[in-house]
Amino acid sequence: MSQSSPLAERLREVDRRIADAARAAGRDPGGVTRIVVTKFHPASLVRELSQLGVRDVGENRQQELAAKHAELADLDVRWHFVGQAQTKKARAIRRAASVVHSVDRARLADALDAAEGDAAEVAPLDVLLQINLTDDPARGGAEPAQIASLAEHVAGCRTLRLRGVMAVAPLDEPPASAFERLAGYAAEVRRIVPEAEWISAGMTGDFTEALAAGATHLRIGTAITGNRPTRA
Ligand SMILES: *Cc1c(COP(=O)(O)O)cnc(C)c1O
Repeated sequence: MSQSSPLAERLREVDRRIADAARAAGRDPGGVTRIVVTKFHPASLVRELSQLGVRDVGENRQQELAAKHAELADLDVRWHFVGQAQTKKARAIRRAASVVHSVDRARLADALDAAEGDAAEVAPLDVLLQINLTDDPARGGAEPAQIASLAEHVAGCRTLRLRGVMAVAPLDEPPASAFERLAGYAAEVRRIVPEAEWISAGMTGDFTEALAAGATHLRIGTAITGNRPTRA
């Protein structure tokens, strides 16, 4: 993969903007994980990204995650599942993902926890609680009022490691204020699990605001990949 391809240039430009925004917020750019969301793009794009040094990639559909994970088993990448998860797909998600960002209910946590036989032998799965920053349940995520009980539940799952929170900014509110709320929810989770320090927030349109509000994990798609192919 040429370092001067359009993909390489977009990646470099986004990384430059991340570094600038992190420093502007008084933060170390090295403490930020940039996840490239590759949904709808072919596995070959993930291979190109890997050749450019990308180590964290994100998918939002279980089937696509599983297919790319299988096809790209030779790559040194961590797969992040960022989509809404069906409980019955938990086993397949766990097989492919290193991190599940979208745990929004106890039943899903239980299904992910149970998806791998004997707890003593299983590598723990990193999970985040997805919080809904809107009033619309269809947008996914747990209601803020449920955060404490869900965090306690996940903390009790033997093969899950609760790492923090994740959210998508609402469409009808400035992202900065929504991400400030998320930072408060993250603190609520840390009162229960102090080491749960990750905040997964920020996409193509709002990652600088997310960084300013403390995001540790950015999920960036189109700014790096270009427009997603449309699906039939
Ligand atoms: C698609 C997606 C992203 C990336 O979106 P872009 O706007 O293309 O950067 C981030 N998070 C989630 C949950 C997504 O589904």
